[in-house]
Amino acid sequence: MPKSRIAKNILLVLIGLICIAVLYIISRSNYLLFHSIAEMFAVVVIFAIFAIAWNSRRFSDNAYFLFIGIACLFIGALELVHTLAYRGMGVFPGYGSNLATQLWIAVRYLESLSLLIAPLFIQRKINIKLVFAVYFVATALIILSIFTWNIFPQCYIDGVGLTPFKVISEYVISLILVGAISLLLAQRRKFSGNVVKFLVASMLASIASEMFFTLYTDVYGVNNMIGHLLQIVAFYLIYKSLIEIALAEPYQLLFHNLKKSETELKQTVGKLTRSNADLTEFAYVASHDLQEPLRMVSSYLQLIERRYRDKLDNDGIEFMTFAVDGANRMQKMITDLLIFSRVGTRGKPFAPTDCEIILSQALLNLETSIQESQAVVTHDPLPNLMADSTQMVQLFQNLIGNAIKFRKAQAPQVHISARLKADDWEFSVRDNGIGIEPHYYERIFVVFQRLHGKGEYPGTGIGLAVCKKVVERHGGQIWVESEPGQGSTFSFTIPLG
Ligand code: ADP
Repeated sequence: MPKSRIAKNILLVLIGLICIAVLYIISRSNYLLFHSIAEMFAVVVIFAIFAIAWNSRRFSDNAYFLFIGIACLFIGALELVHTLAYRGMGVFPGYGSNLATQLWIAVRYLESLSLLIAPLFIQRKINIKLVFAVYFVATALIILSIFTWNIFPQCYIDGVGLTPFKVISEYVISLILVGAISLLLAQRRKFSGNVVKFLVASMLASIASEMFFTLYTDVYGVNNMIGHLLQIVAFYLIYKSLIEIALAEPYQLLFHNLKKSETELKQTVGKLTRSNADLTEFAYVASHDLQEPLRMVSSYLQLIERRYRDKLDNDGIEFMTFAVDGANRMQKMITDLLIFSRVGTRGKPFAPTDCEIILSQALLNLETSIQESQAVVTHDPLPNLMADSTQMVQLFQNLIGNAIKFRKAQAPQVHISARLKADDWEFSVRDNGIGIEPHYYERIFVVFQRLHGKGEYPGTGIGLAVCKKVVERHGGQIWVESEPGQGSTFSFTIPLG
């Protein structure tokens, strides 16, 4: 146990002892006051047990405490009547000490029987309405038999002391409590932490209290006082065990589940990262190594086409054209795939980058297609930021290239803008091209996903996947807004830092 915990426990015991000492002093000077304070304390704890058990009933699948909680509502009510009925209180004139003693013994029977029955509800469903009804009837019968029908056995005779019924009842109640303890212990594994310890300690305190109650001859005597104090301790221990199960356990369960999910998540992320790295490496190695044999295939095909063109018939020439075309496309795909796999693994460190220079580089690379299509490319002033300049050229080139490629009949108009948002720059590449249907907005960023056949528009379907990877490597996001037939706007963010 940590030192702070030990200190706290010592402090609690000290406070408890001081309370007992104060109660003892009060009992010596005014027993009625002592009894009222002690009973009020017990009643508060009993009602607190009900309140906590009732309000935490959904957190636990263990109805043991809910059953005890409901019982406590009625036990607390009878305990209150007992307090008011105590000799000298003057609430029920003409009854003497017997009334309070009868009520006391009735409450103890109700309490011990409740503790005996409660283990039946460990990890079981409970019919709340039925339990309330049974306790209501039992409480009503106790009250009627004592106050109206006068059939409850005498417990105390003024001037004589306790009746045999009272004394025997205390032993019977103790036996019921022993039964309750053994039933509870038999199922102790279904409780966690210190719950069972507290409950058993509570019932032992109750038994000790009953023993003191067999001894007293005067309701204002020392034995009666010790009995009351032990009874408070007993209820307090039930309260402690309830707090443990109602508050500590659900959180423990919650934290346990949370910790488990966290560990599982970490493992999954670890596995994903590893497989992602493996895949990227594979894509890199495969595309890199495939380049060489493929280059050989295509150059030999071209050689055959040149040298033996005269010897081939029309079909032969056509087949040869298909083969050369296929080899070329494959080479383009492999080159693009290599670019794609290089983004994450072989990028340069970020450095101050002037986006105006980046744009002019991209436009230079696209010069042929700009001239062919008579595209007009305009732009806002572009900022300086921390980035990988080669990848930024790639990004602009792919987006502007697409804006030109997916044009309508008229000459393409492309505008590049940049806006400073809270923490990042937002760039947009707007065109007046063919546009994209909204349900393709996500798909087009996935490798090899194209919306058109190779006959309509050339391409490998890797360009936007590369853009997404570049933007994400820089900590930004990329998305498209478009209206089919009206043009598209591709936007991406690059964080300031
Ligand atoms: P590619 O251009 O090689 O086909 P991309 O990954 O660059 O591959 O683009 C994927 C698909 O997204 C394209 O095939 C096209 O259908 C669509 N797309 C991309 N940019 C535009 C654009 N500016 N206007 C219309 N469609 C576009």
